[in-house]
Amino acid sequence: CMKLEIAGAEASQLAARFGTPVYVYDQNRLEERMRQFRQAFSSPLFDCHVAYASKAFCCLAMMQLVQREGLWADAVSGGELYTAMKAGFDMNNILFHGNSKTDAELEMALEAGVGTIVVDNLAEAGRLAFLSTNHPGSRTRTLLRINPGVEAHTHAYIVTADIDSKFGISITRSQEIIETCRILDEAPNLDFAGFHAHIGSQIFEPEAFAAEIDKVTAFTKEFQDQTGLQISCLDLGGGFAARYTEKDSCPPVETVCRRILEAMTEAVKRHGLSVRELIIEPGRSIAAEAGWTLYTVGSIKDTEHRRYVFVDGGMNDNIRPALYQAEYEAVLADRMDEEKSETVTVAGKCCESGDIILRNGRLQPARPGDILAVASTGAYGQSMASNYNKLPVPGTLFVKDGQARWVIRPQDLEDLIRNEEPLPEES
Ligand code: PLP
Repeated sequence: CMKLEIAGAEASQLAARFGTPVYVYDQNRLEERMRQFRQAFSSPLFDCHVAYASKAFCCLAMMQLVQREGLWADAVSGGELYTAMKAGFDMNNILFHGNSKTDAELEMALEAGVGTIVVDNLAEAGRLAFLSTNHPGSRTRTLLRINPGVEAHTHAYIVTADIDSKFGISITRSQEIIETCRILDEAPNLDFAGFHAHIGSQIFEPEAFAAEIDKVTAFTKEFQDQTGLQISCLDLGGGFAARYTEKDSCPPVETVCRRILEAMTEAVKRHGLSVRELIIEPGRSIAAEAGWTLYTVGSIKDTEHRRYVFVDGGMNDNIRPALYQAEYEAVLADRMDEEKSETVTVAGKCCESGDIILRNGRLQPARPGDILAVASTGAYGQSMASNYNKLPVPGTLFVKDGQARWVIRPQDLEDLIRNEEPLPEES
């Protein structure tokens, strides 16, 4: 009978050998996706960089792959910076993001020689300008995150949305943007290069990026005219769609990249801009579809209106359905040739009614002991994992050409209390 294979390895054999729950990545597919982006996002007019958004899935092995495939990376915390450093990542190719970077994190980024710091707001610009004076002789490139008022999710995008976002400075506040850029431009150890914007997640519609480019370049033109500061770099953010279920038909990476480059080429001509460098930051689109989560089916329970299939993991290894009703598809790894004849709810073992992995999903008839594989869990699964209910975070395997290896070992019970201190004995 037909069995699920991941990069040439049988999923149920991986489960038998390494245990469940377990995250499994198809390394071939990760590499292929990174290559697709690199090839598609290039242009004779611009210096183009694809920066992998490491928040989607970050570990030493992943950062090594990203570097090997010639991508840059973005990081949003000291922890992500540290992981990149320990992976031997060229820190000059790192963009450091975040709306609430601490002084310690900024200091760490300056010390580590992070190539580009993406400043979020006026107050942060002042702090960074001050901290950078502790690094005489260095010159750190900065971008300012602006909010172009375009918000895109799935098939809809709205222009003039969300001016109260916690991220960046709204382009409706142009004086504040000018003031912030002047601080960055005048700081002796900083080098102000341009703007960053990110308009949302799971964007299917290439026109949403074109709308972003319209807004950002028109603003850039105005900004240059008012300040005389030249903008050489624009970072258009991430949000490229991934396929989670059959409802998601994602445009090819090539199509989206082509539309972005076309819109940029046209806008630069129209406005006479000096932009020479472009950055995009795909996260989920690189990591999601390469990742699976394997569970073992425990009990099956019927209620008035539902059949529950219980598994040995749950919201601690994948919080997305509970957090924002994310949808997935699942299969029984060894029974792929059977029809998905049942509608079931796959529930985890956590003490929360919302601990659901799949709500009313189609599945082959499950029996206790079956290996249930959830597809496209490679982004924001492992990276959002928690120890809720004192559940260990499952380990992560990379499989390449049939060969599997741990890239993150599973936590054990001892790991769960490793940093704990008992109270002293009562005397
Ligand atoms: N860049 C920035 C600034 C982000 O905030 C995010 C996601 O939150 C990303 C990139 C990656 O988004 P995605 O994984 O949807 O591509």
